[in-house]
Amino acid sequence: MNEGPATALSARQAPPAHGSGERARDPRPYQHYVYAYPHKTAYEELDDAPSLRDVWAGEPRDALALYLHIPFCEVRCGFCNLFTRIGAPDGLTTRYLEALERQALAVREALGDAEPVAFAAAAFGGGTPTFLTAGELERLCDIAEKRAGADLSAVPLSVEASPATATVDRLAVLADRGATRLSLGVQSFVEAEARAAVRPQRRADVEAALGRIRDAGIPVLNIDLIYGIEGQTEESWRHSLRAALAWRPEELYLYPLYVRPKTALGRREPDEAAWDTQRLRLYRHGRDLLLAEGYEQVSMRMFRRPGPPAQGPDDHACQTDGMVGLGCGARSYTSRLHYSFDYAVDMRETRAIVDRYTGTADFSRAHRGFRIGPAGDEPRRRHLLQSLLQAAGLGLAEYRARFGSCPADDFPAELADFATRGWLDGAAADAGLLRLSPEGLAHSDALGPALFSPAVRARMSAYEPR
Ligand code: SF4
Repeated sequence: MNEGPATALSARQAPPAHGSGERARDPRPYQHYVYAYPHKTAYEELDDAPSLRDVWAGEPRDALALYLHIPFCEVRCGFCNLFTRIGAPDGLTTRYLEALERQALAVREALGDAEPVAFAAAAFGGGTPTFLTAGELERLCDIAEKRAGADLSAVPLSVEASPATATVDRLAVLADRGATRLSLGVQSFVEAEARAAVRPQRRADVEAALGRIRDAGIPVLNIDLIYGIEGQTEESWRHSLRAALAWRPEELYLYPLYVRPKTALGRREPDEAAWDTQRLRLYRHGRDLLLAEGYEQVSMRMFRRPGPPAQGPDDHACQTDGMVGLGCGARSYTSRLHYSFDYAVDMRETRAIVDRYTGTADFSRAHRGFRIGPAGDEPRRRHLLQSLLQAAGLGLAEYRARFGSCPADDFPAELADFATRGWLDGAAADAGLLRLSPEGLAHSDALGPALFSPAVRARMSAYEPR
């Protein structure tokens, strides 16, 4: 779930007021998970449908990231608004892999061979990549290596899995082909909470899956947990955290639960103020417990056990320029254009998009996207968001070297507002950093949306969830 949940800003998720000279009421803490800027709901049809050859012309290509998206899951979790469908009728995974192969060839051709092309990292996400059989995973790795040109045995390879699909044969393929990180969506070790989040699973099955992953010898295990589930208490949350810690995972992601349009939980109407209070309390409880256990906080959601080398992208840093996304839910990033296919959450819409993708013969053009730069305001916002939402903060010298200014020049109202709220670490400037305070990190999902540009905000508001 690392490319995690997000949705368009709705009317009830209005951003805080800025620039009025007085401190506005505290915004709601859970508005939007900013894992990529801008969100796909801000993408539009590209009238000129540029050729990928033009899109990639002049872009650095010596350290690209490769992302392959598998849009299939066994069940649809109640909280999930990622691009995925339940199950795959006869032959659909085969047709999907064939389309992936055609797309990989088209992108590789567009990248050309005038300059060397090299990938520095790879990831299989979804959906659930391990929905594919062991044989299909072999083919997926072949596509990444032989068609796209990534050397999976030489670069970090991160893969997402669910407990039921983390089987011995699939894990053996992934380990053999070079997987360095396996991320398991557990969400809760309490069976009643898993049911309440519409992700029914037995604790024994989760524990067995974790055992198989450890036996497979993949160096980094990440476990995803969710807080804010109906009925969840500090005690039951601590129980899940302790159960996860028993496996000594190298990474843990703690996600606040969101209720989004078009999802199974989207029909509920929680008491939002009480729910915010519950989520903030559970967040602080989880953060404090992990820090006491020696974990380092990388971002609001991500915690890492010191020692093992990082084997995947840091939270909020997965959208660096130079990413090749393959598959119908994958985004690609260049310094000038972000592009992808259509996006939906509703089951019927998702199925139609997957079918269109598998029927596509010509992948040589970009049809949907967002023109981001390289000059102007948007790259600055993206850089600020990418860096500020990480616990390590933003290097002021690096920002100045890239843009010739400092964030306080470019975003005076927003940063003054954050400072007034106590969200900035006042001592960080001495170290040449702009950094969030612990409370600022806790409010990442309010602070991030406050940095969206008016243009992105307008496009997201105009997006009709489907
Ligand atoms: S396993 Fe659940 S959370 Fe993960 S992509 Fe599938 S439906 Fe979404």
